[in-house]
Amino acid sequence: MKIIVAGGAGFLGSYLCEKLLGENHEVICVDNLLTGYEENIAHLKDNPGFKFINADVSKPLDGILDHQPKADRPLDEIYHLASPASPNEKNPKGYHVLGFETMLVNSTGTWNLCELAKKSGAKFLFASTSEVYGDPEEHPQKETYRGNVSTTGPRAVYDESKRFGETITSKFIRTEGLDGRIIRIFNTYGPGMADDGRVVTTFIKKALKNEPLPVFGKGEQTRSFCFVDDMVDGIISAMEKGESGEVYNLGNPDEYSILELADKIKALTGSSSEIEYHALPEDDPLQRCPDITKARTGLGWEPKISLEEGLKRYIEYLRNENH
Ligand code: NAD
Ligand code: UDP
Repeated sequence: MKIIVAGGAGFLGSYLCEKLLGENHEVICVDNLLTGYEENIAHLKDNPGFKFINADVSKPLDGILDHQPKADRPLDEIYHLASPASPNEKNPKGYHVLGFETMLVNSTGTWNLCELAKKSGAKFLFASTSEVYGDPEEHPQKETYRGNVSTTGPRAVYDESKRFGETITSKFIRTEGLDGRIIRIFNTYGPGMADDGRVVTTFIKKALKNEPLPVFGKGEQTRSFCFVDDMVDGIISAMEKGESGEVYNLGNPDEYSILELADKIKALTGSSSEIEYHALPEDDPLQRCPDITKARTGLGWEPKISLEEGLKRYIEYLRNENH
């Protein structure tokens, strides 16, 4: 198949490009390197089935298909993963600093890619987020839960634009004949993740240097962490087996408090780091855990890699590569 991966130079996108190329598909990676890196896709560039286009999907995409490796074949699929993803308030790659770009890529960017999918008859997948549930009052979160999101809070640039991206995708499916599906990705980690303030990378890097681990709030808030290999399998399953118009939670349902995560990372790295408490960021969700019954039954997918196993792999990577 011929496949566009928007956001393909990012953390999840680059794994996705690699896996799709491994299945002998042609892959067009469209990315403006806002939060991604050319190094993420450097190992793919010599593959004749791979093409990188440096472009902003929030701008008109006319002519983008002129860049196809083999223009005689139709476009089969579009994965839309383009968006900043880190909630760190000060990080230059986070969605607070990149608030306008984030709102644009999840709204206009989604619209442009839906149009392209409609025009070319390609299947479409929109990567949404567990953040659409906000600070959830239902636990664990099912796809039917409508969320508890502030429209005016600091995280809204991400949460609300993802919600609007879901609305745009759904409108194209409902009335424009788009074959589309939405995935809501829960916290994912692993080798290649940017050092952009997200918790797993921050804790491991500091633990390896025996520096204090910055825990926000009391560390009692929970998250459910999915290893990247599992997530990429889930994303492909959602495109291949997911039904048009459906929404699928993708994540690992094993839930940990942030203090438990810190303790696990300290133990696995043999670190003497202390815990250092900082203020809890505004609107930081208190609990988050996916109900993945729908992905299990509808996609035949569930994560296979435990937090301990995934952390060991990521720790080894950061230790050896000295990232
Ligand atoms: P990432 O920042 O590593 O990757 C996003 C990629 O999109 C980057 O390469 C960036 O340059 C590109 N991009 C951003 N704006 C663009 C634009 N206007 N035009 C073209 N490219 C653009 O983030 P990630 O962790 O790989 O996340 C990928 C997707 O999954 C995002 O949509 C994110 O919201 C979603 N998601 C990720 C997580 C997670 O834990 N990693 C959780 C929930 C949702
Ligand atoms: N967190 C923390 N210390 C850090 C970074 C994050 O305690 O250095 C907490 C954060 O407050 C949140 C959780 O860890 O409750 C996960 O944060 P992350 O930024 O990884 O992603 P989020 O789930 O908030 O999108």
